[in-house]
Amino acid sequence: MTGPTPKPWIDAIHPYTPGRSVASGVERPVKLSSNENPLGTSPAAQRVLAEAQGGLSRYPDPRSTALREAIGVRYGLDPERIICGTGSDELLHLAAGAFAGVGDEVLYVRYGFSVYPIAARRVGAEPVEAPDTDYATNVDALLEAVTSATRVVFLANPNNPTGTFARRDDIARLHAGLPEDVLLVVDQAYAEYLDEADDDGALVLAGNAPNVLVTRTFSKIYGLAAERIGWGYGPAPVIAALDKIRAPFNVTSAGQQAAVAALGDTDFVEASRTHNAKWRGWFEERIAGWGNAGLRAVPSKANFVLVEFNGPVTAEQAFEALLQRGYITRWLPGQGLPDALRITIGTEEEMAGLVAALDEVLSNEP
Ligand SMILES: *Cc1c(COP(=O)(O)O)cnc(C)c1O
Repeated sequence: MTGPTPKPWIDAIHPYTPGRSVASGVERPVKLSSNENPLGTSPAAQRVLAEAQGGLSRYPDPRSTALREAIGVRYGLDPERIICGTGSDELLHLAAGAFAGVGDEVLYVRYGFSVYPIAARRVGAEPVEAPDTDYATNVDALLEAVTSATRVVFLANPNNPTGTFARRDDIARLHAGLPEDVLLVVDQAYAEYLDEADDDGALVLAGNAPNVLVTRTFSKIYGLAAERIGWGYGPAPVIAALDKIRAPFNVTSAGQQAAVAALGDTDFVEASRTHNAKWRGWFEERIAGWGNAGLRAVPSKANFVLVEFNGPVTAEQAFEALLQRGYITRWLPGQGLPDALRITIGTEEEMAGLVAALDEVLSNEP
């Protein structure tokens, strides 16, 4: 007996590898591998979660009405054109599922977010990678890779795992060069970390164009990764298509309430953004100081930095040595990045400890 056979496109999926959270022999490792908020969760959201005990026997609001309205007020968007998801992950899968299938192509840039090829293959579509330029999005290369089979283009901005950013004119040019029947998904998981001047314009595009969807998440700056809440904004017909195939009760009651509270806690978001900018800058300077050891920080606009190791200590050696010292970073050979580590910006104490550990690792090289 062989049992049921998965579809060949499912067999072709390389499973998502989450960031590690344990380091053997270390009791309380410092986890800098999943781009979580080192300041934790908005106190307002925490209070809501602590109180959300009643009503567990009832299904949540299937349309996340109060949350969509709160998002609409916060960002000046029509709540009818907002969809909430079980993390923005669900929305990325829905976008591929609603608009691509067997025989179609799903396009993204090399070193794009690792969920994109999974979302494409899951529905039988072919993932297609366009070349990057020094880790960043190359709009011309993306446009050149568009064929008559292209149905969806995914672009994370800022991008994970590179931290690179496509500016407003890049996004506008990419959109202008795409056929109107190709859906452009701008995945803004890290948008709240940007300076205001760095707005990539995708929300406005999603408001005006027939083929742009923006996705956001409560997992990063809002510090609610455990609750799994994301949202998307786009043209009414696109949102309607996604709504048809989402899970009917896809965001928990507590999650919906916590997200509303988190949206209102602008102090926490501001403090998180300020903390991140300060320590990311500090960390990038330390990396620059190790230039002669072959280290280089790819310029980042997100809450992590991709660090290249091109000297005597390899990225793999640094990853293992940091792990032994209790610092979990992300080594991504499976994503074509064997010579780099992605490191999340942690607390002040964590960053100081990480840099001291890295200093030791680099000076101990054989
Ligand atoms: C973290 C991340 C997400 C968010 O995923 P959730 O499912 O909302 O937790 C989406 N896109 C990118 C590029 C990310 O890095």
